[in-house]
Amino acid sequence: MYDAASALAVSSGDPISEDHRPQGVRDHPVLRLMPDEVQDLVRRKGQMRSGRAGESLEGRAAVGFVLDGALAAFDRKNMACVGLHGRGAMFGWEASLASAFYPVRFLPLIDTHWIEAPAAELSDLMGQAWVEHVFARHALDRLSRVQAEAACNAVHQVPHRTANWIRRLYETSGPELRTTQSILAQAMGVQRTSVNAAVKALERDGALKLSRGRMVVTDPARLHRFACGC
Ligand SMILES: [Zn+2]
Repeated sequence: MYDAASALAVSSGDPISEDHRPQGVRDHPVLRLMPDEVQDLVRRKGQMRSGRAGESLEGRAAVGFVLDGALAAFDRKNMACVGLHGRGAMFGWEASLASAFYPVRFLPLIDTHWIEAPAAELSDLMGQAWVEHVFARHALDRLSRVQAEAACNAVHQVPHRTANWIRRLYETSGPELRTTQSILAQAMGVQRTSVNAAVKALERDGALKLSRGRMVVTDPARLHRFACGC
């Protein structure tokens, strides 16, 4: 298992120390299946980044591999959430193809750790065709998720969407979520008061318990029933 506690000792942006390198690369389900050259580059040039829940972070021209937590990515122009990268996700391949896609802003919904490798070095090493291939394989999946998110925003009401965001966090990170209504509201692009009301209703219903700075999912089945399921 990825040791989040020891990763905390690595401050954001520091090169990965010997102690941290192998664990990080091996523990990412997709990265560990990538060609040896890629894994090696990530070990040599990768940087461990971490973000606290609610912290606003600048994107870099880098490919990222999420080790734990959940990062919401925002398009800087429209300040709309364009992706939720949970444990095991990759992002930023488009930065290897065209730097115009960057910068973006990231908002960790809970404390999150990820490894970043310089996008330009990845494409120099593996070639543009390889990067395009990887990007294309993930682009369809990304596109369908963005479309589903847009439809969800348009059709489903905030209480059901709120339950759905919490459900997604629960599924990747377990029942104890160190996040707040305010962070969820930013990610969803809605008023905090409406997320507050939704979360209070879920608590009344016994789906979760609230305490300062965290939510504990106490009845996942109830949460699922209330979530829109997008
Ligand atoms: Zn929905």
